[in-house]
Amino acid sequence: MRITAAVLESAGGPFTLQQIDLADPGPDEVLVRVHSVGICATDLEFANFFPTPAVLGHEGSGVVEQVGERVTGVSPGDHVAMSFTSCGDCPLCRGGNPAYCRQFDAVNFSGRRPDGSSALSRDGQQVNGHFLGQSSFASHVVAPARAVVPISKEIDLGVVGPFGCGFGTGAGAVLNVLRPEVGSSLVVFGAGAVGVAAILAARAAGCAVVAAVDVNTGKLDTARLLGATHGVNSTEGDPRELLTAIAPHGFDVAIDTTGREDVLRLAVESLGPLGRCGVVGIGPSEQMSFEWRSVLNGRSITGIIGGSSLPQVFLPKLLDLHAAGNFPVDRLITRFPFTQINEAVAALRSGEVGKAVLTL
Ligand SMILES: [Zn+2]
Ligand SMILES: [Zn+2]
Repeated sequence: MRITAAVLESAGGPFTLQQIDLADPGPDEVLVRVHSVGICATDLEFANFFPTPAVLGHEGSGVVEQVGERVTGVSPGDHVAMSFTSCGDCPLCRGGNPAYCRQFDAVNFSGRRPDGSSALSRDGQQVNGHFLGQSSFASHVVAPARAVVPISKEIDLGVVGPFGCGFGTGAGAVLNVLRPEVGSSLVVFGAGAVGVAAILAARAAGCAVVAAVDVNTGKLDTARLLGATHGVNSTEGDPRELLTAIAPHGFDVAIDTTGREDVLRLAVESLGPLGRCGVVGIGPSEQMSFEWRSVLNGRSITGIIGGSSLPQVFLPKLLDLHAAGNFPVDRLITRFPFTQINEAVAALRSGEVGKAVLTL
């Protein structure tokens, strides 16, 4: 079928809207008509080196139109969120940890299905897709059934997309991995969509002190409005001193969403004894470094992919939390028509919006 997709022609962009071809779903795949799709920092990062021409996008929501012959559990007409995919066969997938699938990179980041084919093509030439199980910067997606999560038809599809990555990544780091105790202290570095989702989850988990650190005053204001007890602008003084004033004995939990070497070091050093640092950001730095003595007092560092979630279990729970008013992410979202994808990317890059969601 002919679809409209935002095609990345060369590294760095821009995206151009084009008519391209989408093959029918295979036996284990589903065809989804996209309702809306969030733009995540990972799209912008991968746009710099993903093999082109390509279709990115991995925070899609929509309606199932067709399912392959072996697909069970989802039917045409179902509303779905889309998330990352996994092989389903390795010990980590079988153990309920698909975010750490042994084939994770091959099935999410190769641009192709495991057999080397792509569902996307243009003038008979294959176009790279299958990005994080989706490539949802498009009117339609052929996704593996494993990447699709059925949701209630009562939920606004316009907010659902980012639950599949950004919101789920931040909230999952807190609720699935770090699990702070009631009354504990937590600090989040980077108050973008992932960071604010972590802050909201920390409040839902009963943390008494939830500090947000950023360089953008507007983002810190939003974080405080949504539940951060403290906002720290790291350009307005020595961030170490500012954090010590909030948690004199160090934080119980720290989360880095920036992927920046200096910030990662600060995150580890902001912890108290036995404190735990979750690393969730993909950022500009290749390395992290710190004095080895700084982890002797029981501090630990954990990398976390996709909120360590089993999407079919975690996303409905997070959507329930949202429906009950305890995960109010709506205020983070700014909607753009799909035709304004490049404007939305620019607004995201400048920090003018927290989470851009394209509506088809
Ligand atoms: Zn696997
Ligand atoms: Zn993402």
